[in-house]
Amino acid sequence: MAVRRPQKNSSFLAPVPFYWCDRCHAPVMGRVCACGNAARPVSVTPPGDVRPAFPRDRALVNRLFEAEFGVPLIPDDQIAILNKVPDEDRMEEIVLGGAVVCAVRYLPAEERWEVLPREAAASVVQPVKRIVRVTDEAAGYIKEGSSVLMPGVTYVSPEIREGDPVFVLSESGECVAVGRSKMSAEEAASAERGQLVRTRRTQKPVIDVHPSSWEGAIAANETILNTYEEKSVAFIRDVMAKNPDVAATISYSGGKDSLVTLLLTLKAGLRLPMIFADTGLEFPETVQNVHEVSETYGLPLYTQSGADGFWKEFAVNGPPAVDFRWCCKSCKLSPVKTLIESTWGEALSFIGQRKFESAKRLQSPRVWRNKNVPCQISAAPIQHWTAMHDWLYLFREKAPYNPLYEIGLDRIGCFMCPSSDIACMKDIAARYPEMWEMWEERVRVWGDANGKPEEWAAKHQWRIREKAEEDSDMEGHY
Ligand SMILES: [Zn+2]
Repeated sequence: MAVRRPQKNSSFLAPVPFYWCDRCHAPVMGRVCACGNAARPVSVTPPGDVRPAFPRDRALVNRLFEAEFGVPLIPDDQIAILNKVPDEDRMEEIVLGGAVVCAVRYLPAEERWEVLPREAAASVVQPVKRIVRVTDEAAGYIKEGSSVLMPGVTYVSPEIREGDPVFVLSESGECVAVGRSKMSAEEAASAERGQLVRTRRTQKPVIDVHPSSWEGAIAANETILNTYEEKSVAFIRDVMAKNPDVAATISYSGGKDSLVTLLLTLKAGLRLPMIFADTGLEFPETVQNVHEVSETYGLPLYTQSGADGFWKEFAVNGPPAVDFRWCCKSCKLSPVKTLIESTWGEALSFIGQRKFESAKRLQSPRVWRNKNVPCQISAAPIQHWTAMHDWLYLFREKAPYNPLYEIGLDRIGCFMCPSSDIACMKDIAARYPEMWEMWEERVRVWGDANGKPEEWAAKHQWRIREKAEEDSDMEGHY
């Protein structure tokens, strides 16, 4: 049985301004490229908090695409961009050259990924598997919206099964449609009539197939990044001026958002102490990054452990769930409160919260006090940044970001965070088997003692409680 997960309610987030400059061959986070050219909008599924594909992401997409269509998709000399799409588990759109070329989707019930190609993919590579060829005459009709009918079909790849995603190519090699096959290759061989492919109507793709690089992307966004930096630095100075008697700090989690925030406080001429709430469930890379950043920038580090609090609560409540996230309070907020009260009495903390992270964050004020940590004033300098602004800025500043992003994690938190998708948890379990076995064992023991079935621990069912006992959206931001 698939574990159901509440869909993130992100539909009313304003779409991210995501464009492509065909002259610079680069993504542009605004209408106008630094070269002066008007950039072309890229239509991704909203909210479109796009981010770079890192080596592990690229390898995954290439492996999946090659398995289904016989060729790797992402050329070595092009940058790729990912866009997370709300789905049952994990789904990502892949953007090359300013066009969505496919989506990859994890099917938790079948424990496998599926690739949903778009026509634009055929401008980048020539698929050799799962292809249907039609006569040039039929291709003309299909391009105008007609169905892919049996009499016009000249070739069906032998591996095609019913329901498979396929490319429809003309005899001259042009991709005229993508869709799902309604018959297996065997059935198609004996069928004389009928619809072979249910096509997916997409706009004629505009794609830029030139080589691209992150250096080019940084240059194309230079004006935009400078403006974002200036505004955020002005915000930091303003908040500092309004709270002259409160000790200023930076909340550092080991994630990209808090690293950008830290860099901006440096740009504002500040050298603030770093606060790190160590849940005891961090990845080793995260703890290492926290120390590395502290050393690189010469900022004092204050760590407070929340591990005791976590396991005490665990004994009573069991594992935290998406709809029962008691963990942030005991692992993050309480330790931070203790730390601030004992060190400064009261503190102002710059934190890496962004409105594009969730609908709730969109509604959050830019300066606030959390009711659970009244001694802390929180302020969010990068409230209006998207993930792509973050990354371009970190690349430009050559900042020491957490290497976990390189291996395909897009959010850094506790290794067993219930808010992670199953695709990601499987990855983590494979990469950190000891950590994961320890966790699953703890969940199993608690489940056994509390009348939960065996699959509750093994099949990730603990992630959802199905009764919303508490959902305070306090993850990470303390
Ligand atoms: Zn340009």
